[in-house]
Amino acid sequence: MIFENLIGNFSTDIAMDLGTANTLVYIKDEGVVLNEPSIVAVSDNGEKVEAVGNEAKQMFGRTPGNLQTIRPMKDGVIADFNVTNRMITYFIKKVIKKNWFIKPRIMIGVPTCITQVEKKAVIEAALMSGVREVHLIEEPMAAAIGANIPVHKPEGNMVIDIGGGTSDVAIISLSTIAYGESVRLAGDAIDESIVRYLRLQHNLNIGIFEGERIKLEIGSAYPELETLSTEVKGINVQTGVPTSITISENEIREAIQEPILTIISTVMKALEKIPPELSADIHSNGIYLTGGGALIRGLDKLIEEQTTLKVYKPDEPLLGIVKGVGTVLNSYEKMKDVCIC
Ligand code: ADP
Ligand code: MG
Repeated sequence: MIFENLIGNFSTDIAMDLGTANTLVYIKDEGVVLNEPSIVAVSDNGEKVEAVGNEAKQMFGRTPGNLQTIRPMKDGVIADFNVTNRMITYFIKKVIKKNWFIKPRIMIGVPTCITQVEKKAVIEAALMSGVREVHLIEEPMAAAIGANIPVHKPEGNMVIDIGGGTSDVAIISLSTIAYGESVRLAGDAIDESIVRYLRLQHNLNIGIFEGERIKLEIGSAYPELETLSTEVKGINVQTGVPTSITISENEIREAIQEPILTIISTVMKALEKIPPELSADIHSNGIYLTGGGALIRGLDKLIEEQTTLKVYKPDEPLLGIVKGVGTVLNSYEKMKDVCIC
């Protein structure tokens, strides 16, 4: 114990949110020190890593023949072990300072549905990058702790985390995930539905990043007083001519309705499946909405309307999980029961 305290004074703890869209690293007293897309550019059929994170995202869709950009965590699970491994190693090495006296400890937030094999792969990758100790925590648990939800109590609390690849609905009670459901429908699927809508309704071909930009600028799930619009540049499907049109948020709301309603139906399913005691708790505690998807305008209102439950969201939904991981790591001895390793 004394030795651990001594070590603690000379090393730094690293909290990581290994997301399908973004990887974040938080260090106590320093804040969020890394926030980059979970993207890797590889060549030679995945043998050689050319770039990771921001640099790799720049290459997305612009890569020459032998170069490939991969999102190794795309569906919330590790789609490509080798590449995920190299990505984790790269991010950890980027934040580990050479002058740290003792190797740091790391705690990584991982998807709830992670398998034993995937768990092992994440741990191995972290150890290979020079940390002395690795702990894992499920992302909804970290989000709940980051939001000061009393996860230790015998009381149900619901977290909805809408990320890039997956949306996760979790009900937490007594320091465990009492119910968890993950659907492969989240930010990416919403971007794709915008791309599809423009092609079908306006004969306009746009790329997936343009789809995301439209979502960030005018994406909305519930009508507001002010109606936003944006100019969209693309290629006319029939003539092949570059064209630009103005699109309003009302159309985008229609375009993204299907994935959004499917995500909400996952929440309804959870509420139906759980025991009445937990359901009663959630009716009094409300729902906690997090992840980048929580930033879609009016989504909280739509969920409130459809579920008749109160929805809370943090000020910075993109940082909620990494901050929660940091909180647990700071009080690891007291809170280790919430970790899965
Ligand atoms: P993950 O945990 O899977 O890495 P994040 O929680 O980082 O995902 O969320 C990434 C998703 O959030 C992306 O699909 C991104 O487009 C979306 N997003 C980020 N900011 C906004 C915003 N302002 N409005 C709507 N969606 C957003
Ligand atoms: Mg996430």
